[in-house]
Amino acid sequence: METRSFRIQFERCPFCGAEGVCELVGMIHEIPYFGETIESVIVCRRCGFRHADVMHTEEKEPRRYELRIESAEDMKIRVVRSSTGVVEIPELGVSISPGPRSEGFVSNVEGVLDRIERAIESAKVGADPQTREAADKRLRTIAELREGKAQATLVVWDPRGQSAIVHPKARSRPLTSEELSRA
Ligand SMILES: [Zn+2]
Repeated sequence: METRSFRIQFERCPFCGAEGVCELVGMIHEIPYFGETIESVIVCRRCGFRHADVMHTEEKEPRRYELRIESAEDMKIRVVRSSTGVVEIPELGVSISPGPRSEGFVSNVEGVLDRIERAIESAKVGADPQTREAADKRLRTIAELREGKAQATLVVWDPRGQSAIVHPKARSRPLTSEELSRA
């Protein structure tokens, strides 16, 4: 994967309005079998505003991708998730959904598991024993997936077509009009 980077200094922060403290740092990735993808982070040094996202430079068809995670080798499979993308692992009952605080990223299966793990860890804080026990069970499954000792399905779909699992092993199909209307 080839990457070039660029920076744009904003005159004013779009959030707090302060001058000269907010910038966008962008990386242009040339992803084999997917194409040119821009990963960007806007950060304001004054108010702490931060937003990360991913955009494809070409228009893409809305698609649903599905990957069977079955070996440690699968951890390296590239996953592109824009802020409009949905990432699900049905066997774990977890999903990353679009929302105001939703961030885009260019990562891999392991990076997706890291994010889910952090979300489960933070949900455990202050939870009742039963919830904590269920969370621990999920965390154990994630650890097993990393070592190729368990299997699960990773689903990625995006009504704007900006998210994907980039690997020949991933099955993909266009989103149906019903799925698009639910998005
Ligand atoms: Zn600001």
